[in-house]
Amino acid sequence: MRVAQIIINRPAKQLHKPLSYLMPKKFGTVLPGTRVLVPLGNSREEGILIGYTELTESPEFTLRNIVQILDSEPWFTPEMMDTARRLNEYYLCSYGDALRLFTVHKTLKSYEAPKEEWLVVTPDFSVDQFSGRKRKQRELAAYLLEVGGASKALLLAKGYSRMVIKQVSEAHGIVVESRFKATKTVFDELLTEEYKIPLSEAQQKAYESIQYAMDHHVYQPFLLHGVTGSGKTQIYLRATARCISQDKTAIILVPEIILTDQIVRRFVETFGDEVVVFHSKLTVQQRNNNWERLRRKDSHIIIGARSAIFAPAEDIGLIVVDEEHDTSYKQEDMVRYHARNVALWRGEAHGCPVILGSATPSVVSYHKAQNGTYRLLELPNRIFEQPMPSVSIVDMKEEMLHGNYSVFSDAMMHLIQRTLDEHNQMIILLNRRGYSTFVMCRDCGETIMCPHCDVAMVYHQAGEELRCHYCEHHEPIPAVCPKCKSKRIKFFGSGTQKVEEELRAHFQHARIARLDQDVTKHKQAAEDILHDFGNHKYDILLGTQMVSKGHDFKGVTAVGILTADSVLNIPVYSASERTFDLLTQTSGRAGRGDKTGHVVIQTYNPLNYAIIKSKTHDYVGFYHEEIQNREALGYPPFRQMIHMVVRHQDMNTLESVANCIVNDLERHKGNLDITINGPYETSIKKVRDMYRLAIMIRGTDLTDMKKYIYHSWIFTQEGLLIDVDPV
Ligand code: ADP
Ligand code: ZN
Ligand code: ZN
Repeated sequence: MRVAQIIINRPAKQLHKPLSYLMPKKFGTVLPGTRVLVPLGNSREEGILIGYTELTESPEFTLRNIVQILDSEPWFTPEMMDTARRLNEYYLCSYGDALRLFTVHKTLKSYEAPKEEWLVVTPDFSVDQFSGRKRKQRELAAYLLEVGGASKALLLAKGYSRMVIKQVSEAHGIVVESRFKATKTVFDELLTEEYKIPLSEAQQKAYESIQYAMDHHVYQPFLLHGVTGSGKTQIYLRATARCISQDKTAIILVPEIILTDQIVRRFVETFGDEVVVFHSKLTVQQRNNNWERLRRKDSHIIIGARSAIFAPAEDIGLIVVDEEHDTSYKQEDMVRYHARNVALWRGEAHGCPVILGSATPSVVSYHKAQNGTYRLLELPNRIFEQPMPSVSIVDMKEEMLHGNYSVFSDAMMHLIQRTLDEHNQMIILLNRRGYSTFVMCRDCGETIMCPHCDVAMVYHQAGEELRCHYCEHHEPIPAVCPKCKSKRIKFFGSGTQKVEEELRAHFQHARIARLDQDVTKHKQAAEDILHDFGNHKYDILLGTQMVSKGHDFKGVTAVGILTADSVLNIPVYSASERTFDLLTQTSGRAGRGDKTGHVVIQTYNPLNYAIIKSKTHDYVGFYHEEIQNREALGYPPFRQMIHMVVRHQDMNTLESVANCIVNDLERHKGNLDITINGPYETSIKKVRDMYRLAIMIRGTDLTDMKKYIYHSWIFTQEGLLIDVDPV
């Protein structure tokens, strides 16, 4: 007997395995990937048909019938279902949750195809009106008369300037019409300005390898390593043009869309309507419309943050992961996937190249490029050969010995002053938000904590209150210590707000903008600040990590990093790597115009290699030190990690469940090279009234362990979080 395997389209731990149903004959052949309606208990649920199996024996219970077929053709292609299967096996998420990543699709109400503007010739048109005009205009008029009309995009591609096109479009007998764009554009004709730039020798070499893979339809991961300004984006544009000329789809991933609008703009300027930009501000209708454009190949390019990797493209010819080291590619809830992995899987399934680009590749990726898993492509120099900025490192312990207890070292003060005197711009990085990080009683040492989350409350000047950064809890500042009733309550640490105040006090004429998550809860606010800073309406941009990425402000000659140690001290194995990235990327904001940049980095750990190597922008030097440490300590890429967090409201129940899990895992691991640590307290003991205990599994090959976890009672525990490859 043939039974249909159905995944219920709803997140629920008990429903993570497929259920069996009968497919009534009246529905004919229904392909896997189609959505169906099935009875479940007393209700009806939407499900996804993932395949059929043959039952040899009659089942113990009566199978129920599928009630209705919801799609006329499958929504999920076999490749999407395969990728979901890999996500399920690799990340230990449920198969249904993985499938849902390929969009929760509501039926599209109406489809709007992209349009483009055409210059169309009417019977009134005559070329005589152009006598005496410039040659280019006459040429264009003659061309239009001959062909009857052409799109602006094509005319641009043919080398007519916007000005010439505009002048001719205003001529007597020419009308400008909005027409549906031809489905397939021949890109050899559509050579835009950007596309016509001849590549440098290093770029040419890199591009040829990529082109070879594209033309032979082979899967090949490339690690494109080049400092900012070395011409990586130019290579992405070239490869994308090639991809479109093959009538295939290109997926371009960027870290965070608001911080990377420059690369998005370059794609849109080069490819126009071929580009679909994917971001969280889209309405459901817009989003579905975009998906439909991709499915119909009315557009061939999707550019977006990590979830764009799940674009429903059926014929992918190129995948680019820009700034591949960026931690925003890792999703931190539900399915804890890394978009780079998904990119590689999809690239493999479609037989196409995957370009991972970065100035500071992740250590794991660079290791793979060293051992041949990826091909390394290098762009060693900046295109215009601007020098890298000069970096000085200030030991804050020394500063204190000299009696300077402020957050600004003398060197920092000088750099700020000099930048202002020279009418240049500066970016200052501070890794915290809020006014002061925490509030402590000077008499008994009590820190005010969130009652639900066991983390220190943060003082926010706006509203004069304490806020928890893990939940919505906030409260007024206490007048006396809740423990000893002392009135001597003090604010510790330096948040962005406090630094902003100090800056304003020191440099009264400077125009200062602040960029952190408090300011940018509204997306527009961030865009406006960045835009105004770009137009030199501010002298100093002060902010958290948000100021460290992507931006290309020509007026910025100086960068100050107030606390290089804040990332170094976070309790994760990759703290050094993240510090090196942060310092290098932030320093890289200085001196992108024609003036040389200067950077001051303040630290309490001036001898740390991540800090020393960032002074000389020495990625490879950093990598060699880091990879040795990783090997010695058994961290990725040498051993894989699975981090599990068990949560419960009751501490005793939590402890016994966590201990049971550890015992079970220990029993199962047998003689395999696997270590299990825990259960241990997480750095935050309680979040939203749920206590937490962590378990860490490490090993050279965890495939078998993963299978065991997925199929055992462990997986169905409510409140269990599983993070494979935590970053
Ligand atoms: P990256 O992505 O590595 O930061 P880009 O591709 O943005 O580098 O290149 C940096 C700058 O150099 C851009 O303004 C780009 O237009 C320009 N550029 C890139 N390649 C070339 C080239 N071959 N010839 C001239 N200019 C180039
Ligand atoms: Zn006290
Ligand atoms: Zn809280």
